[in-house]
Amino acid sequence: MARFLITSAIPYINGIKHLGNLVGSQLPADLYARYQRARGHEVMFLCATDEHGTPAELAAAKAGKPVADYCAEMHEVQAGIAKGFGLSFDHFGRSSSPQNHALTQHFAGKLAEQGLIREVTEKQVYSHADGRFLPDRYIEGTCPNCGYERARGDQCEECTKQLDPTDLIDPRSAISGSTDLEVRETKHLYLCQSQLKDQLDDWINSKSDWPVLTTSIAKKWLHDGDGLQDRGITRDLDWGVPVKKGDADWPGMDGKVFYVWFDAPIEYIAASREWADANGKTDADWQRWWRTDKGAEDVKYVQFMGKDNVPFHTLSFPATILGSGEPWKMVDHLKSFNYLNYDGGQFSTSQGRGVFMDQALEILPADYWRWWLLSHAPESSDSEFTWENFQQSVNKDLADVLGNFVSRITKFCRSKYGEAVPAGNDYGEAEQALIDEISTRVTAYEGHMAAMDVRKSAQELRAIWVAGNEYLQSVAPWSVFKTDPDQAAAQVRLGLNLIRLYAVLSAPFIPDATKRLLAALQTEDRSWPDDVAAALSALPAGHAFTVPEVLFAKITDEQREEWQERFSGTRD
Ligand SMILES: [Zn+2]
Repeated sequence: MARFLITSAIPYINGIKHLGNLVGSQLPADLYARYQRARGHEVMFLCATDEHGTPAELAAAKAGKPVADYCAEMHEVQAGIAKGFGLSFDHFGRSSSPQNHALTQHFAGKLAEQGLIREVTEKQVYSHADGRFLPDRYIEGTCPNCGYERARGDQCEECTKQLDPTDLIDPRSAISGSTDLEVRETKHLYLCQSQLKDQLDDWINSKSDWPVLTTSIAKKWLHDGDGLQDRGITRDLDWGVPVKKGDADWPGMDGKVFYVWFDAPIEYIAASREWADANGKTDADWQRWWRTDKGAEDVKYVQFMGKDNVPFHTLSFPATILGSGEPWKMVDHLKSFNYLNYDGGQFSTSQGRGVFMDQALEILPADYWRWWLLSHAPESSDSEFTWENFQQSVNKDLADVLGNFVSRITKFCRSKYGEAVPAGNDYGEAEQALIDEISTRVTAYEGHMAAMDVRKSAQELRAIWVAGNEYLQSVAPWSVFKTDPDQAAAQVRLGLNLIRLYAVLSAPFIPDATKRLLAALQTEDRSWPDDVAAALSALPAGHAFTVPEVLFAKITDEQREEWQERFSGTRD
């Protein structure tokens, strides 16, 4: 038994994510976690909400709620939707947890001990009316270049000129509109990433099995221009992890918090500590996943993320944990994804364009979405969601190929032999040929799943479903029954056993269907088919079953058109 630590990039707290976000991290991570568990391995699958930063504060203000309350509510919403999609996290944590506060402060303290933190005095705009410093993008004014009246302090959206807040004419707070602003000096901590450049370079060079896309992005950030830059890790905000050096106060840093980019990935570790605390476990129980001096040396750590998150996971977070000088587990494999586009354009949270996770579950059960998203995962390039493709894929793959197989064989058996696996002949040549084909395909499926080749895995699984249909079509038990009911009984027996095999193999993709199939077959035998011949005899003659309800309903043209219209933009 091997041990897999699996993390999905953590979604930001302000609002519900769309299907492109889902397929870019959480869903393929879930596929992999479910697969490794099904193979009998020990898995720790973690995700969380990313709760700090100015956008969370502003979203809370807009909702008229204290930011802590807002985050607590939105966390529950996101957790509920994740559950609806069957995302099988061992723990879905919160970056605002006490555990993450403590770990973030711990890492900052260790980095300071290693001489990797320096203090920098900066000038920043303070708003008297808001009682706070304003990040550049929350200052608005007139662009000195083009005269656009709503230019932001970092850039004019009209003429695209890069700006400093002090360039703006008539600057005002984007939060309150107040013009009572003042430039003040403020002190911040910087992580000396530049000093870690060689160490990071060596570490990345040691990863010969990483995709070129991943290493080339990391190398670009390490070496292009002036190379990896030191980066601010603190902010003048109220909401966040207070700046401390471990347990101790940090002189001169009162009232400041760590910058969200610094504390968010530490939540990967903190989530396991939250898991331990929530389940009556000890520190040793979470540390055996994360500390190579406390049992984590045999752990394989895999991260899932969208491509925009690669620099962050190959450089920023590794800089934090390498720089600490402590033996923390580093990532072994990064699986990154391109973007999923929506029906001729992009998903847009601000315009409400595309399908959001809550809406998706309102119109169809999770398995429909899981199957389409995973079988069309944007791996080698961006991919596109269209309603035509979705309809076609659901109707063909799920309804015609898998659903129809299940329906035909169970109904035929019920009508001719009753609701129990029939006895009859031993398996013959046609059955052996099918067993051989499926054995080969299962081996290929295992290889693709282990390699996290999501689309190839889906294709192989579908081919395994197709093989059963073709067998049934060619042996035609409904004809054989008329002359040789014992032979037809063997064919039906194989078919019923195939349903169990399909249920087990398909579970990482469509877990609800698996549950329903196993319930109909009245078995809880989820053992992996290491020996396909044995697996196809697992349900013996006489074993009772029931005919399941329709497994997957077809999507009609009317539904497709209605949904296409409904999700074309401007969310209610
Ligand atoms: Zn301008």
